[in-house]
Amino acid sequence: MSFSSLGLSDPILRALDEKGYSTPFPIQIKAIPAVLSGKDVMAAAQTGTGKTAGFVLPLLQRLASGSKVKANHIRALILAPTRELAVQIADSVASYGKHLSLKSSVVYGGVKINPQMMKLRGGLDVLVATPGRLLDLFSKNAVKFSQVDTLVLDEADRMLDLGFIDDIRKILALLPKKRQNLLFSATFSSDIRKLTDNLLKNPVQIEVNPRNSAAKSVKQWIYEVDKNRKSALLSHLVRNKGWEQVLVFTRTKNGADRLVRKLAGDGISAAAIHGDKSQAKRTRTLADFKTNKIRVLVATDIAARGIDIIELPHVINFDLPKVPEDYVHRIGRTGRAGSEGEGISLVSADEVKLLSGIETLIRQLLVREVETGFVPTHQVPLTRLLKARPKKPKKQKKPKLTQEQKQGGKQKSGSNKPRRGSKSRGAEKSKRNPRVRGKQRRDSGTVSANKRLSRKNKGK
Ligand code: AMP
Repeated sequence: MSFSSLGLSDPILRALDEKGYSTPFPIQIKAIPAVLSGKDVMAAAQTGTGKTAGFVLPLLQRLASGSKVKANHIRALILAPTRELAVQIADSVASYGKHLSLKSSVVYGGVKINPQMMKLRGGLDVLVATPGRLLDLFSKNAVKFSQVDTLVLDEADRMLDLGFIDDIRKILALLPKKRQNLLFSATFSSDIRKLTDNLLKNPVQIEVNPRNSAAKSVKQWIYEVDKNRKSALLSHLVRNKGWEQVLVFTRTKNGADRLVRKLAGDGISAAAIHGDKSQAKRTRTLADFKTNKIRVLVATDIAARGIDIIELPHVINFDLPKVPEDYVHRIGRTGRAGSEGEGISLVSADEVKLLSGIETLIRQLLVREVETGFVPTHQVPLTRLLKARPKKPKKQKKPKLTQEQKQGGKQKSGSNKPRRGSKSRGAEKSKRNPRVRGKQRRDSGTVSANKRLSRKNKGK
């Protein structure tokens, strides 16, 4: 399969050639013809799958043959949740469209608004924007929407996680009714479904990775470790395993800063990227990381959203994320563009619920390891895959009594109960009695992890 067979024009094919792209990725094979046909598209795709080219290439092609843009107007609007992602998309628009005479730019908050207003004056074919800044520009009459015929919502799930739903609704109400809508999201929660139901008309549905599963080319496992030894373990792993480019996630900004100090104390070059850092600082840090000037980049979920580094080999969850979907996003940073990567989580006993939530979401129990010298005193309880969304138990019909039960009377009919609801009853029992739960878990398919653990402990 080649890009030319997807119906892309010469100027775009030339730009792809110059970028060294020879074969389209699966998301591109599906999305490009769908977008070119003018239909709405709903795609389940994570970062790293090549989704940006999946919508940017056909979008540019459609815009190349359309009408001229008027002053302060825009023809296509791409909404992204973070500045980093917005900048990254805008870079893609510029490089894929370098042989077309289309005008594009990017706007986001946290920087002066005037230069962005100036860029909008002459009108733009493509505007990439974060929602808040776009509304600010609209309120200043700097941008007009009546020429918009394509809307792209990229990383829609993240947009909702970050609380942009009201801004998105406001923006949707300002756009012309007749337009093409493209929605990309790594995960599809019920809130996203609600949004897509209102937004998309008979969309072409595209799914490249099984929904809510982490990218296939990523090896994932956890290290069980005590909470207070996590940073020592991280330094140890970075040094002993010779990791040269590591992206580490922490849950909080303070946690990120603390970890950077600890790593620096251990002689490992590290920097943090999070919401309290200025845009200029974040851009500089990212550049230093990309060029291997710093070995470890510590990021919070929000800041990491737009990070695009091809073939990032190691992603570490220093803390497990509160929202299980964030695990999928984090792991999406490695194994990008088809290359193999490692997604490793440092898990302490108090995080077992978060671990279980993640495993339930990705439908997979994560392999457990214990590093020699870091055997936890508080062992992470064993987990098992739970049903994704526990359903309300149905009211049980009164069982028909067999002849034998009828004869046995009340007592026998009672003894029938455990068989009927054995699963839920077992779970209920385990809540009351942790010892029972422990036993059930040991029986539940993670025995190999346990064996490995005891082997390692012995080996210590
Ligand atoms: P994305 O998922 O859009 O962030 O893209 C992931 C990475 O894959 C980016 O660095 C792209 O430049 C790269 N990429 C996208 N499509 C292709 C392709 N067809 N061939 C090679 N690299 C690609």
